[in-house]
Amino acid sequence: MVIRCYILSVRQWGITMAIIGIDLGTTNSLACVCREGKPILIPNSLGETLTPSVVSVDENGEICVGAVAKERLISHPEASAASFKRYMGTNKVFTLAGEKFTPQELSSFVLRQLKEDAERFLGEEVTEAVISVPAYFNDNQRYATKEAGRLAGIHVERLVNEPSAAALAASRISGEDEGSYLVFDFGGGTLDVSLVDYFDNIIEIIAVSGDNRLGGDDFDEVIARSFCAHHQMEFDTLDRQAKLALLRLSEKCKRELTRQDETELVWEAEDKRMPLNNLVLAGLGQKLFDRISQVIDRALHDSGRSMEEIDEIVLAGGSSKMPVVALYLQTLLKRRPTMAASPDEIVAMGAGVYAGIKERRQDIRDLVLTDICPFSLGTNVVNYVDGGNPIMSTVIERNSVLPCSKTGYYTNSYDYQAKIDIGIYQGEAYYCKENLKLGNIEMEILPCKKGEACLEVSFTYDINGILEVEVTDHQLNQRKRKVLTSEKLRMSEEEINRRLEELQAYKLMPCGGIRTKMIMARGERLFAQLLGARRQQVAIAMQQIEWAVKSRNDQQISKALKEAKEIFDRLEES
Ligand code: ADP
Ligand code: MG
Repeated sequence: MVIRCYILSVRQWGITMAIIGIDLGTTNSLACVCREGKPILIPNSLGETLTPSVVSVDENGEICVGAVAKERLISHPEASAASFKRYMGTNKVFTLAGEKFTPQELSSFVLRQLKEDAERFLGEEVTEAVISVPAYFNDNQRYATKEAGRLAGIHVERLVNEPSAAALAASRISGEDEGSYLVFDFGGGTLDVSLVDYFDNIIEIIAVSGDNRLGGDDFDEVIARSFCAHHQMEFDTLDRQAKLALLRLSEKCKRELTRQDETELVWEAEDKRMPLNNLVLAGLGQKLFDRISQVIDRALHDSGRSMEEIDEIVLAGGSSKMPVVALYLQTLLKRRPTMAASPDEIVAMGAGVYAGIKERRQDIRDLVLTDICPFSLGTNVVNYVDGGNPIMSTVIERNSVLPCSKTGYYTNSYDYQAKIDIGIYQGEAYYCKENLKLGNIEMEILPCKKGEACLEVSFTYDINGILEVEVTDHQLNQRKRKVLTSEKLRMSEEEINRRLEELQAYKLMPCGGIRTKMIMARGERLFAQLLGARRQQVAIAMQQIEWAVKSRNDQQISKALKEAKEIFDRLEES
């Protein structure tokens, strides 16, 4: 059964204050509300359910979010930002048109836009949201997501795990409330594979595995590289604008191959073309498929389950729509995945179902951090090949059942070492510097020969995400303890309130102007991409719009917009 979005007028239900579900994605975000037990996706002002998670500051200092901002990412890269979800819960700062923003502040603009779109659609005030987050999100990242909600003026009491949301939506749609699910979520830049059990109103994540540098963007890149090879060009030596333009054309081509079996990549500005079909794409993506299979293997291995014990494979994420991906999974897992809803909408639908459950004051327990630790925790050991680059020594392995306590023993790495610095890290990377540093404990030791000291290091991780590290030196009878709750990345109450006020000063672009902005931004991009008579056509269409806007005549504006859209569509089609 295929369930698409139901776009209805919701006013008739006479609700007062709505709780919505939000999929705050790396590439795209969506909002969903639950009415009469059914998830209803909320369209934005362009009538689309997907809002690109891109923010841009325009010439008037107004914030635009979504498709307009995505166009500006190419034409005004210094004023635009994308993929900021990757940096949630870190100290990274983005500079847009000279102004500094944290990842949660940029996310708050996306949330504010979704809230406004939802309020317009529902005709009600949205006060609360249930936001989905990746199951592996740590405490800092979860906290930062809630903070983004606060900065957007939305109360976020509940976060749900993305695979739990996908499994919940899938079970609602299939009408089978219980089961074991393998959720394959393949987005723009991330792959997450999770094993999820849903029994007796408890959703339990059994294992999670992922590659946070693997997604649809990689398929765009292999297509772009193959195009360059086809024309004896070097992808890496293209300038930024050219790279982005070619990647965009490659993405368009990739999407066409979801609808039809063959297509052609045409790069107008360079007067170059290349035919492409799904068979060729499958060959180009071979290395990516190998990485996909590793992630699936790891999830199955960590869960101790076999494919026979899985009831359903749930496809989520826009890249799961690719026929080459679905076919690969089918061959690998020897099972046909279900595509109950559109993969890029299923997480949002699940978040919407959660929001409905919350509105009815019922509960479904979503267990992840309470049950398993989705990441590894460990300490640093000497790298004898590259001394300045310590290696991760895992103490608590990912997917350990919580609460969990593990002990490791460590020694001095050179003669007469005076102290040992025990770093505390979280993550799966081999080198410590690529993992998240949570803190450290410094221990002074009795001077002795290399390898003669002995420190006992115990990690205890409890169900509330609190990590306690204790280091004992039995020789000196000394003990040091540290409790880590990752408070340091958090804003104080005053800071939040001050930033809340400052951010309110940034106005979101009014809904009425968005269509015009969208077409103009698209025009600017096409102008940069095309040459000759085609570039001229773009310029004329844009001038018509500018004239119409100046005349303030609504009819003329609509006419100019409609004509420009037709011209741009035609230019992009050819
Ligand atoms: P995220 O979870 O990262 O926010 P999405 O689930 O929205 O991302 O997936 C975005 C990715 O899906 C992009 O790489 C996009 O190119 C790809 N995608 C979306 N629709 C299609 C389609 N019809 N065919 C192929 N790829 C698609
Ligand atoms: Mg997603």
